[in-house]
Amino acid sequence: MSSIDSSINYGTDSMAWVRALSHASDAELYALIQTPMYDAMLFRHADAVRRIYYGTDVYIRGLIEFTNYCRNDCYYCGIRRSNGMVHRYRLTKAEILTCCKDGYALGFRTFVLQGGEDMAYTDKTLCEIVSTIREHFPNCTITLSLGERTRESYRLLYRAGANRYLLRHETADDAHYRRLHPKEMSLAHRKSCLFQLKEIGYQVGAGFLVGSPFQTAKELVSDLRFLQQLQPDMIGIGPFIPHSNTPFRDYSGGSLILTLRMLAILRLMFPYVLLPATTALGTIHPQGRELGLKVGANVVMPNLSPTGVQRKYELYDNKICTGEESAQCRSCLEQRVEAAGYHVVTDVGDMRRRKLTK
Ligand code: SAH
Repeated sequence: MSSIDSSINYGTDSMAWVRALSHASDAELYALIQTPMYDAMLFRHADAVRRIYYGTDVYIRGLIEFTNYCRNDCYYCGIRRSNGMVHRYRLTKAEILTCCKDGYALGFRTFVLQGGEDMAYTDKTLCEIVSTIREHFPNCTITLSLGERTRESYRLLYRAGANRYLLRHETADDAHYRRLHPKEMSLAHRKSCLFQLKEIGYQVGAGFLVGSPFQTAKELVSDLRFLQQLQPDMIGIGPFIPHSNTPFRDYSGGSLILTLRMLAILRLMFPYVLLPATTALGTIHPQGRELGLKVGANVVMPNLSPTGVQRKYELYDNKICTGEESAQCRSCLEQRVEAAGYHVVTDVGDMRRRKLTK
């Protein structure tokens, strides 16, 4: 497995890289993940492939962080239930709707409702929120990121008008999963939620932390294998960043280069996928998101949450883009996207994918 002398040479045609990576052996994946020597080639082909499939399009999604209450206690996460230092908040339906209205005026056509696993939002409450957004914005995409719920809950929310669901699997290695989460959580359950969501009809996003404690290339290969099995529409990855009030406060965070390498590999393995350049990537390097876009990422997610709560949704230390008005946040990101050589697209973002896959 660890012999990395079998040098990677897929030639100069970027589509040959796509074909090669779609049935790459574990040894090849280890080599790509562990050898800086391949970076220049990986990055170049990943960008070429994103341009073949998506041109220079970058899709924007308005992120609404509507609650930071959470029943879970993930060791890496700043809003885990044991963190008594967090000022907890919940947005009302009216406040969420205001975020959507502001966002719509700024050109957003996808709203992402994300929160901790907060059972104060019952199925009934959430369905009311979703169906009200659906009524007001019939031409918009509603993405949910609410963690693990029951199949029935996912079904009701889908029926109420939600289209997409983001649920990172965090790590696809069972032993590793257990080292990142308390024992009441399980990888098997997380995975089953993802398959249920898919079955119901959602476009589904999975993903993992890069550089989380105890992670090696072995776990990253498992992540890629799981994604091949799931075939998600979206993949969210970002570097792990320690939070000072969590058990992982003293671990080092994930690196820029490894995150870029994983983004490039994902673009080549999943050429159609919607792949965000995340806020976490922008947090560990001032140009992190631009660099992400240049190696295959094609989505950015500006914050539409009310300014007063943004800092409270602190998953990790020093999170950027807190305390900014949504208009400011959007125009800053647009400038960054343009400076990197790409273009923000505000209409519904997955049409191209549909056309190409049919
Ligand atoms: N409750 C929802 C949303 C979780 S927050 C859910 O379970 O899906 C969104 C993502 O933030 C998580 O999936 C996790 O990958 C990421 N995250 C949490 N803590 C982090 C940290 N310390 N560093 C980087 N990313 C983190």
